[in-house]
Amino acid sequence: MKKIIFFLILLCAGTTFFYVIDKAFAEKGRKYYENLGYIVWDIQTKEKVIALTFDDGPHPKYTEQVLNLLDQYGAKGTFFLVGEQAEKNPQVVLRMYQDGHEIANHTYTHPFTKSVSKVMKEIEQTNDTLFSITGYSPKLFRPVEGQYTDQLVKEVAKEGYKIVMWSWHQDTEDWRNPGVNKIVNKVLSGVKEGNIVLFHDGGGNRQQTVKALEKILPELKKQGYTFITISEMLELQKEIK
Ligand SMILES: [Zn+2]
Repeated sequence: MKKIIFFLILLCAGTTFFYVIDKAFAEKGRKYYENLGYIVWDIQTKEKVIALTFDDGPHPKYTEQVLNLLDQYGAKGTFFLVGEQAEKNPQVVLRMYQDGHEIANHTYTHPFTKSVSKVMKEIEQTNDTLFSITGYSPKLFRPVEGQYTDQLVKEVAKEGYKIVMWSWHQDTEDWRNPGVNKIVNKVLSGVKEGNIVLFHDGGGNRQQTVKALEKILPELKKQGYTFITISEMLELQKEIK
């Protein structure tokens, strides 16, 4: 009996502890980080602008196809590059940079880790690689799978980077290869000024992403949207404030 009571007390204490921790996290939600300017998900604007973002590249085949399409429609994209892939495909990185797209940081090896120091090291390594290819050092960072901790956010901000997420309703989940129409509908059905859309141009077969863009780009253009980079969007946000 004593053992059971002891166990119950432990359980209660544990639950309270996690509740408190959880609450502390909840208090540092989206608004908290947005107000500090540490993280952006999307912006509020009446201008017909949208930011298309691409993770996990560059890929020698799919990224080139994406770039061709963006060029065709006069669209600018933002590419969250994986350093080791950039190292293998410097010509693709140089092309996107010279074409006026934005290059950004998505770690070096795309690790699934909670270690802040490892991530910080990878951010630096990737920026060194991107700088050696383009002469430009990105200041935008997207964490792997969009996972962040308060500690990571603070470290990243301290180094002068801004974290870029995406509009909650604009996660195409194209990495799952859900079918071209699903990707197209996801973007078009809820599209709104100031949205940030999440695509993937690397990390696997991205044929569906390319095919979806063939439909999304002309349709949004017809609706009057201009496709801008994240930095351009952040500038616009400053003007609004
Ligand atoms: Zn990724």
